[in-house]
Amino acid sequence: MNFHLDADQTAFQQEVVDFIEQGLPDGWDSEHESFAEALRIERQIMTRLAAKHWLALPWPKEFGGLGASPMQQLIFNEQMAYHGVPGTMNMGVAWVGPVVMLYGRDDQKAQYLSRIADGSDLWCTLYSEPGAGSDLAAMQTRAVRDGDDYIINGQKIWTSFGHYADWGWLAVRTDPDVPKHKGLSTFAIKMDTPGITIRPLVNMAGTHEFNEIFFEDVRVPAANLVGEENRGWYNVAVGLDFERSSIGATSNSRRMVDDLVTYLRTEKPRIDNAVKHRLVDEAIGVALLRNMAYYIASRQEKTGIAPTREAQMAKLFGAELQQRIAATALQVFGMEGQAHRPVSRAASYRYGLLRSVANTIEGGTSEIQRSVIATRGLGLPRE
Ligand SMILES: Cc1cc2nc3c(=O)[nH]c(=O)nc-3n(C[C@H](O)[C@H](O)[C@H](O)COP(=O)(O)OP(=O)(O)OC[C@H]3O[C@@H](n4cnc5c(N)ncnc54)[C@H](O)[C@@H]3O)c2cc1C
Repeated sequence: MNFHLDADQTAFQQEVVDFIEQGLPDGWDSEHESFAEALRIERQIMTRLAAKHWLALPWPKEFGGLGASPMQQLIFNEQMAYHGVPGTMNMGVAWVGPVVMLYGRDDQKAQYLSRIADGSDLWCTLYSEPGAGSDLAAMQTRAVRDGDDYIINGQKIWTSFGHYADWGWLAVRTDPDVPKHKGLSTFAIKMDTPGITIRPLVNMAGTHEFNEIFFEDVRVPAANLVGEENRGWYNVAVGLDFERSSIGATSNSRRMVDDLVTYLRTEKPRIDNAVKHRLVDEAIGVALLRNMAYYIASRQEKTGIAPTREAQMAKLFGAELQQRIAATALQVFGMEGQAHRPVSRAASYRYGLLRSVANTIEGGTSEIQRSVIATRGLGLPRE
């Protein structure tokens, strides 16, 4: 493992920093008046990233990426997350595209991939259901073959960005009479297909990020089945591995700690020693997380495979660290930290704390992550 960037990596890091300083649309980092405005800017950022082939940076060049190495991805993710640039968390790039590359037909690759890489299409992920989250294979939404179509009926929930996605990456039950992991299939579905109803769910931080989505006799062409019928569980599992190995994206935690330290140094507010000590613990956590990310990237660079156990550990540690930092930030700002945005800059920490609750749920809860690390990572017995 090498902690030092070589000359090419240093040059790439500088290129990314220059782009953040000079290449982004005006006002990208100010408070937006509406969600629609935030989304407009985010899509502008995606278009500019796509022009540099950075939106799908790790993808092969033939599909619109740059075939970037794990270290380049880490450098890119770190800088984007540290500076809080939106538009880089893209499900189409992170797991839909990679699964289509592995299991999709050539015509599907041609139809979906370039429009993800150039920022034309946004995708959402339709996995979770009211009765299937941690136990994802228990999903009940049905797809029944009817001529050249499948007909979909059921409900999905917690669908992030489903209200502005162009396409949905959908997992459904195609065979109810076999063990639950064996009767699932994955489809690409246009989100404006008749019979789809999208209802907003507002989270405890007061923002509309996710939705519940109802399917009533929705016809999806059989040609949109990705991979083999009833082998969808493998597509989902591979996709979740891609989701949990997004290295470097947690460096917004480092930014929060740096900002808090700068604030305390310059404003010199009176704070309890216990709060300072907590901040020291968070700074240590941030350094540890960064080392984990570099370790994962350097292993992946050497072996070509992301080390699953370490990636799971980084996801778990990073999510819990973010919650601790958000709580410490509120202690630093005291009463002011509890104000609603946009009253003061401290108020964004209030939002951060409320939003951070979801960190240990989305993409797999901490309990599930610990169980997977215990059994698959450490080889501990299941019961
Ligand atoms: C912000 C956010 C965004 C999301 N976006 C999406 C999305 O875009 N698409 C999508 O499909 N889903 C999405 N989800 C859903 C997410 O994947 C699920 O919420 C998550 O997998 C947990 O499932 P659940 O909510 O059904 O909770 P449950 O599975 O019901 O779990 C409830 C509690 O029980 C614990 N538990 C469950 N089983 C076990 C076990 N075997 N051992 C120990 N403890 C257990 C859990 O850890 C948890 O604490 C999102 C969730 C959040 C919070």
